[in-house]
Amino acid sequence: MMPEHEVLAGVRGVILDLDGVVYRGDRALPGARGFIEYMSSSGRQVVALTNHSGRTASSYSTKLRGLGVDLAEEQVVSSGWATARFIARERRGKSALVVGTEALRQELARQGVPTSDEPELVVVGFVEELARVPLHLAVNHLLRGAELIATNPDALLPTAQGWLPECGPVTAYLETATGKRALVIGKPNPWIVELALERIGLRASDTLLVGDTLGTDIEAARAAGAKPALVLSGNTRAAPPDPDLLVEDDLQGLLRRFEEADRRLSGG
Ligand SMILES: [Mg+2]
Repeated sequence: MMPEHEVLAGVRGVILDLDGVVYRGDRALPGARGFIEYMSSSGRQVVALTNHSGRTASSYSTKLRGLGVDLAEEQVVSSGWATARFIARERRGKSALVVGTEALRQELARQGVPTSDEPELVVVGFVEELARVPLHLAVNHLLRGAELIATNPDALLPTAQGWLPECGPVTAYLETATGKRALVIGKPNPWIVELALERIGLRASDTLLVGDTLGTDIEAARAAGAKPALVLSGNTRAAPPDPDLLVEDDLQGLLRRFEEADRRLSGG
């Protein structure tokens, strides 16, 4: 196996999860700003990849700027955007009913996915208020033959006020009611990692995917062929014993390891 410093020195781009990696709620996590600055200044590409569908890419970029983290709209891939992309490419012309936020509706509209009273797809994402979404309509369309597509499998979203149910439980509700299984676009599906790689023009093998969740981020990295890095600043508090997994407290620690790797490579 190649020594770690050689692996890191050879990384040409990073795919960063957001919640639990770059920030928690409305607070930037240690090292987030410095890590992203160092990646750019060392000639590496950066793209954020989030499973959350409650914001558009431009809204993410604005939020990040407010936290002192400079990532342009084009450097953010969300599960909402990716789901719209999937439908535009693979379910061309099919109409959708959205069980999700206004942000998800916007992503679908922007990529030309029509809405309809007789939808062929039910698209489920993060939902703020269950009472406001047409669950009964969704169930009936699914029973009539519509396909169920979910933005992401996550169970919970951590916020400053506590946990919020994510897309997973809403998907489970629709699955249980109808006996259908959702097609899930977000991590760990390697397809969404491919979309992030398209943004930075790199191959998975030249890329490090940094996340805080084993079942989504780390699984996705492995399925796509990117090197996985787990930070313990979010959902996962103790790393599993796994010699192939790069583990760090947070992006501050990962920044130090990159600096050290680059120093050794340059003989400094
Ligand atoms: Mg996360």
